[in-house]
Amino acid sequence: MIPIAKPYITEEEAQAAYDTILTGWITQGPKVAEFEEKFATYTGAKHAVAVSNCTTALHLSMIVAGISNGDEVICPSMSYIATANSIKYVGAIPVFAEVKEDYNIDIEDVKKKINSKTKAILIVHQIGLPADIDEFTQLCKEKNIVLIEDAACAVGSSYKGKKIGSHSGLVCFSFHPRKVISTGDGGMITTNNQEYSDRLKLLRQHGMSVNDRVRHQSSIVIFEDHLEVGFNYRLTDIQASVGIKQLEKLDWIVEERRKIARKYLEELKDIDCIRLPFEDENKNYNFQSFSIYLKDNCKIERNDLMQKLLDKGISTRRGIMTIHRETAYKSLSYSLPVSEDLADRSIIIPLYIPMNDEDIKYVVENLKMLLK
Ligand SMILES: *Cc1c(COP(=O)(O)O)cnc(C)c1O
Repeated sequence: MIPIAKPYITEEEAQAAYDTILTGWITQGPKVAEFEEKFATYTGAKHAVAVSNCTTALHLSMIVAGISNGDEVICPSMSYIATANSIKYVGAIPVFAEVKEDYNIDIEDVKKKINSKTKAILIVHQIGLPADIDEFTQLCKEKNIVLIEDAACAVGSSYKGKKIGSHSGLVCFSFHPRKVISTGDGGMITTNNQEYSDRLKLLRQHGMSVNDRVRHQSSIVIFEDHLEVGFNYRLTDIQASVGIKQLEKLDWIVEERRKIARKYLEELKDIDCIRLPFEDENKNYNFQSFSIYLKDNCKIERNDLMQKLLDKGISTRRGIMTIHRETAYKSLSYSLPVSEDLADRSIIIPLYIPMNDEDIKYVVENLKMLLK
């Protein structure tokens, strides 16, 4: 059986978790601080704030950006549902925009949807391919609204030579096992804004004015105050110690993923009924997923293709979902033909480390047989 994905985690991560457990400090503490510092250095952002997952990262980003009841936030419908849920959590309204053929949000459609209630644009770097950050930064500046990046899948990707995480005020990452590096579950927010960073650190830990580490290290008795209603969105030191080891491997992991992707691109380029992922010289793509779009002239239906591949022991997934067609969002009554078509006609094929040449060849041969 060839799986769709698997995390690349070694003895080193297991040892790091083991060592941390034996120190006796297992929730947010020194390892979280170290992970944050290393993550900020890696991405080139001034600050990094670790949280329990990317959904909570997005939620806190909405709060510090000042989004609240009745505000509108524009985001793609073609994304994981957590993107829109984070907007709902603060009482705001997700306004869905279309995407382009590369699955990333379409700025022309976004422009049409901006009005006086629009407070932010939440762009998503879809399956790791960066969206057009500069264009959105410019647009947000012109309209005086906030830009937030859902970079759940984009750790290790770059845009115009700089790592994702360094470009804007609020960038949210995920360390779920389906993403490029993992801590089991986990998330991070990078920001260049000191005020955002300070408030994010308060909010993730019950609004507490003094964190456990500071209190523990203090030689004088300190009492904490709770400055506002916060949350428990902590990452643990066990997870952070795994994250530190994963981060050391990240550039190598991205390079390996790109090697596999290049083999797929080369081997599949002659199948004329499919469209392969776009590469762009401004965007170094971590290939969190490898998605194939089935064009009109395809003789096999997407779901049938998925079943036939599964019969051959090859696991696939449907392409990125559309949020507006999920039951939880149907009442917003959207029709987004481009997103719907892309979601219905794309599949994600296996890509993980280590994926040997035989497995790649087996996937390619079966795809060729079913598609030609
Ligand atoms: C996975 C994912 C999320 C959610 O990440 P979690 O860490 O599981 O909360 C949010 N947005 C996108 C685009 C994702 O792919």
